[in-house]
Amino acid sequence: MKRRHSVPLRIGRITIGGDAPVVVQSMTNTDTRDIKSTSRQINELEECGCELIRVAVPDIEAAEAITGIKKQISIPIIADIHFDHKLALASMLAGVDGLRINPGNMTEVLGLKKVIMMAKERQVPIRTGVNAGSIPSDYQNDKPLHERMVNLGMEQIRLIESMDFNLIKVALKAFDVQTTIKAYKMIADLIPYPLHIGITEAGVLRAGTIRNSVGIGILLYMGIGDTVRVSLSAEPREEVLVAYEILKSLGLREKGAMLISCPSCGRAEIDIISLAKRVDEYLENISQPIKVAVMGCVVNGPGEAREADIGVAGGKGKGVIFKKGEVLKTVNESDLYSSLIEQIELLCNHS
Ligand code: SF4
Repeated sequence: MKRRHSVPLRIGRITIGGDAPVVVQSMTNTDTRDIKSTSRQINELEECGCELIRVAVPDIEAAEAITGIKKQISIPIIADIHFDHKLALASMLAGVDGLRINPGNMTEVLGLKKVIMMAKERQVPIRTGVNAGSIPSDYQNDKPLHERMVNLGMEQIRLIESMDFNLIKVALKAFDVQTTIKAYKMIADLIPYPLHIGITEAGVLRAGTIRNSVGIGILLYMGIGDTVRVSLSAEPREEVLVAYEILKSLGLREKGAMLISCPSCGRAEIDIISLAKRVDEYLENISQPIKVAVMGCVVNGPGEAREADIGVAGGKGKGVIFKKGEVLKTVNESDLYSSLIEQIELLCNHS
């Protein structure tokens, strides 16, 4: 998979774009003014792989809280600002690592200039761009939505560039997957900046995961995207876990274990669904990039189980455990879970 070339952008200790791996980010859902809760959530998100975090900054108190939050976290933090340029200035004074602004809703041009000047002085990168929902209703009404998103996004980019600033990354998000893909595809050829990709307002866990996976997956497969945020009406932790599953499925990141499990069918002679569920929960805490296969019967079971680092292929009330392609032993169904876990632990402690 050939990735689009983008100019690398440094945000705190993280590089986005260039040859850097696709960065996983999320956004807190705590009150940013509550330093303790926000820092705790950021640290929990970092533990499950979040590399960059965005916080809402609706008022000055939230902007000032960034100083305290930064003392308690280690991943870079981005302030999400709308309407009021003073919040962007205050966030930078508080030590924020990056800004997300929407120049379209910062109506005071002088205010926007002040933000860009301070960002330049402090080398604070800015994410700009457009959400479909925030395009003025009378803007280029004769054009399709993705073109309107790109055109408005380009106007904002040119405005920022005209102030001699280019530490930029760009996002163009819509709820509609096809619109989002078309918009990113179009802008990818027009600018050198890294692209932050995602499907916005994608919905609750199941539907949102699917919409994000389709949209982000297609873009990444086309080589487009330097950082991802999976947007879900769910705990931010889910956003991070889903993002890694998308990236792992395309071979773009390695993180933690991968479970290969069959859907089960009338041939299965062990309870494959509950075994796979238990193993999956256990694997959430494994950081090594191992493959584990849980398969119901002899049709595809031995083949998949052999390809995995550890695998099980079910039989009548029992299962054959494989390790690195070799048959290890046959155990009763009641002992399958504990035998698998024992082998996974042995493997991880020796790798
Ligand atoms: Fe059915 Fe066996 Fe395939 Fe699982 S591996 S879906 S049990 S045929």
